[in-house]
Amino acid sequence: MFKKILIANRGEIALRIIRACREMGIETVAVHSTADANSMAVRLADESVCIGPPAAKDSYLYMPSIISAAEVTGAEAIHPGYGFLSENATFARMIEEHGFTFIGPKPEHIETMGDKVMAKKTVMALGIPCVPGSDGALESLEEAQRIGDEGGYPMLIKAASGGGGKGMKVVRKAEEMPEAYRTARSEAKANFGDDTVYMEKYLEKPRHIEIQVFGDTHGNAIHLGERDCSIQRRHQKLVEEAPSPVLSAEERDHIGSLSAKMVRDLGYRGAGTIEYLYENGQFYFMEMNTRIQVEHPVTEMITDIDLIAEQIKIAAGEELSFQKDKLHLRGHAIEIRINAEDPDTFMPSPGKITQFHAPGGLNVRLDSAIYQGYSIPPYYDSMIGKLIVKGRNRDECIARLRRAIRETVIEGVKTTLPLHDWILSQPEFVSGDYTIHWLENKLKERAAEK
Ligand code: ADP
Repeated sequence: MFKKILIANRGEIALRIIRACREMGIETVAVHSTADANSMAVRLADESVCIGPPAAKDSYLYMPSIISAAEVTGAEAIHPGYGFLSENATFARMIEEHGFTFIGPKPEHIETMGDKVMAKKTVMALGIPCVPGSDGALESLEEAQRIGDEGGYPMLIKAASGGGGKGMKVVRKAEEMPEAYRTARSEAKANFGDDTVYMEKYLEKPRHIEIQVFGDTHGNAIHLGERDCSIQRRHQKLVEEAPSPVLSAEERDHIGSLSAKMVRDLGYRGAGTIEYLYENGQFYFMEMNTRIQVEHPVTEMITDIDLIAEQIKIAAGEELSFQKDKLHLRGHAIEIRINAEDPDTFMPSPGKITQFHAPGGLNVRLDSAIYQGYSIPPYYDSMIGKLIVKGRNRDECIARLRRAIRETVIEGVKTTLPLHDWILSQPEFVSGDYTIHWLENKLKERAAEK
């Protein structure tokens, strides 16, 4: 096992990795920008190294500084967390070339899955169902129009290098295609430096269902059930839960086994998430994320498995510490993302936290790096924490989560906690009967009423 791990990230995920390391007896190195000198990760890690100024491109995304920090501190492995360099094959390769271990998949798998056109081709060849659309990249406007006419509208144009819900254009009718095709390509170029786009049928009533998978270097591949992330705004997840209120045990088994088989066929190493849209009893592959996800705790809550510890063990060459037949999913877990944002306008609200009180009680977990007196810097993502709650069933879980939200005190900045309390009180949420488009429409109605 490693003696020392460097964490190439910040915020709650840096703290989450430190926690796993400490329980495993592994020393930690936190790297940080000048804006994060007072962060909780810096306070709790065994060592810390400043790697640059606030702008992420000069610190958390600047590979030479991170590699130097690993060299100087004698770390043996690097955990990238999520976001930043976690899905950067060049970084993974650079780490290995410098004699460190990258806690993540092989660089070639990051590369394949990072290019969505290539990813779809690869998984289709392995028998995974995909959303119908263009077979690969769109070569021309004429091709887009032909596929639209044949497959029927609405269609969705997506960027091959896209991520974070950015770079997607819905095309409702044929006349909209020329404009949508042009803007999708120029936005893809501007955001991702690559104007390759592809097209899919736009599904009107899907749920977002993703499967947590793991592969080790001994040929074992396993799934840990699904997470339902259908509560989204601008294609970004706000609430995640496990199990999904709409899947049967047979469906879970079916899509889980198919996903685990894909991991085995690929020879994939480490943690991954396979994202599907689910509509009318059918699953359609969207993408595979080759890293740990923000919402991993909901899976941890119902499996009792530390997913970060598992990533570390696999990177150290150990076998998966659990087996499929011994795995039990127990109870129901929901996570809400707490963003420092205005809950009505979603404008970021950085600043100093003047009062802070964490919720508690049975099966209540707060993953956050904030503390009273902490100043949220304006340079990074607005997510400041995640509240994760477990109940014996979904109703108990919702009641507990609403209770925990009301107990949480974060003053000095605005947060999305009131929005979450409102979402959890909606009859559609309580009944479990909604699609990925539900929240967006509901928010429009709410804004109109105000
Ligand atoms: P990203 O990498 O940007 O997260 P995804 O392909 O995972 O992109 O899609 C993000 C979200 O966009 C999904 O969770 C879903 O809400 C929506 N989406 C993607 N593809 C489709 C589609 N074919 N039809 C309807 N919605 C879609």
